Amino acid sequence: MQQKSPSGPQGFVVQPRRLPKAEASVRVQDFGEIIVKPTTENVEVQAGRCTDCGVPFCQNACPLQNNIPDWLGLSAEDEMREAWRIASATSTMPEICGRICPQDRLCEGSCTLNQSGWEAVTIGSVEAFIGDTAFDNGWVEPIRPLHERGQSVGIVGAGPAGMAAADRLREQGYQVTVYDRHDRPGGLLTYGIPGFKLAKRVVQRRVDRLIDGGVQFVTHCDVGKDVTLAELREKHDAVLLAMGVYQARALQAPGVGPGSTIPALEFLIHQNRRDLGEQDNDTWHHAKGRNVVVIGGGDTAMDCVRTAIRQGAASVTCLYRRDRENMPGSAREVANAEEEGVVFEWLGSPKALMSRDGSTSAVRAARMTLSEPEFGKRRDIVAVPGGDFDLPADMVIEALGFLPEAFAAHHDDLSVTEWDTVAVARGGFATSLPGVYAAGDAVRGASLVVWAVRDGQDAAAEIDRYLRTQTQEAAA
Ligand code: FAD
Ligand code: SF4
Repeated sequence: MQQKSPSGPQGFVVQPRRLPKAEASVRVQDFGEIIVKPTTENVEVQAGRCTDCGVPFCQNACPLQNNIPDWLGLSAEDEMREAWRIASATSTMPEICGRICPQDRLCEGSCTLNQSGWEAVTIGSVEAFIGDTAFDNGWVEPIRPLHERGQSVGIVGAGPAGMAAADRLREQGYQVTVYDRHDRPGGLLTYGIPGFKLAKRVVQRRVDRLIDGGVQFVTHCDVGKDVTLAELREKHDAVLLAMGVYQARALQAPGVGPGSTIPALEFLIHQNRRDLGEQDNDTWHHAKGRNVVVIGGGDTAMDCVRTAIRQGAASVTCLYRRDRENMPGSAREVANAEEEGVVFEWLGSPKALMSRDGSTSAVRAARMTLSEPEFGKRRDIVAVPGGDFDLPADMVIEALGFLPEAFAAHHDDLSVTEWDTVAVARGGFATSLPGVYAAGDAVRGASLVVWAVRDGQDAAAEIDRYLRTQTQEAAA
């Protein structure tokens, strides 16, 4: 697409990348999103930095293969409605991915400008703006199937994978029921990811759109306890398992016992409930005035440290056993945390929890170092002799990652992998049980929202093909 931008074809030379964030001292005062909503003029200028380079590395690096150059070009020309049409063709939640994708590792990391030292186009921010503008202007079409197909699909899990599948399946005319054990839909969009990255109203309007389109949500329903998979298979023509991964990896160290630490998700859920307007007087899960140590180096750890800062902790330290270059969390989130006052203790591995008068008082850690690099191998970490140190802590949060729960244990015939994720056919989503499909973290292990959306959309297409075949066979 030929692109006219306010800054001209070499706009990136005169217009630097700008992604305005609230000042750290201001943003730590509340749980509002830290990215300042850009003006239309700013979006036009930033989108106009795209050179339409002809080899869309950004698109290739996007798990949804979003048609980024086209919607950037249209945004630069203030053709927002058309930009929305293109953005929503490949994604069921552009305004959500635009906010929370680790763009530095995906589209923006591959942007030609980034590769050539000019700083990437702010792709995520433009995408979020397009989505928000569409909602604000009523361009987001309700789901109105052309005809009802008379078949139903049950979805286990109302996270992004389940929601994306529900969207596409309902659009095709299937009756869709989504079962979730939580009291609200959204999965980790609602109860994991904090409001300063993704405002709860942004998730809610997606849920509302599904409900308006006829998708039914059955909350407080734990599949495996309140209803069995066998019962869902009886009731529906197909079932999609999209229940994520929720078994927190636990810290194994002397001094760790009941009540000595807080699991990351438990901590985040309490704050997310407050953000959703619930009264929560629980002080055990609140960091105000406490010395907090968060153990772990992934995005969940980053969400915990930044939540603790906003709650008014006396100090917040992130303890991670490797160094900055080797941490799994997004570099962008680490930078945000540092700006907000989080201290990073790199190359420190928890060794024991110390307590005084029955309460946790410190984390004892071993100083680590990285082994010599070896071709094709991740560098090991080894303890430095005599390098132990103590971090004062009266609140220790474990953010060591998640494993799948033993869902399959309740469902004998469902095959799982050696990692307990649901086993699916190569290149698809079919499980070992006929008519049962699986998608998102439940299959991949802990991953990203954008991959869950991709899986949900693709699984819906596979379920649609399966159900159409069933209908044809029944008619034959
Ligand atoms: P989930 O979102 O986990 O949804 C699964 C749903 O299934 C849940 O609602 C759960 O209640 C329900 N469920 C589970 N078991 C059952 C059962 N037996 N019966 C009924 N319901 C059940 N990714 C990003 O891209 N960007 C980020 O910034 C980011 N931040 C994150 C922060 C945190 C704290 C965490 C934990 C993860 C983060 N992720 C992020 C990862 C991302 O949230 C997940 O990859 C994504 O949500 C997976 O989607 P899903 O639909 O597969 O599962
Ligand atoms: Fe980038 Fe994520 Fe949007 Fe794809 S979905 S364009 S990776 S922000």
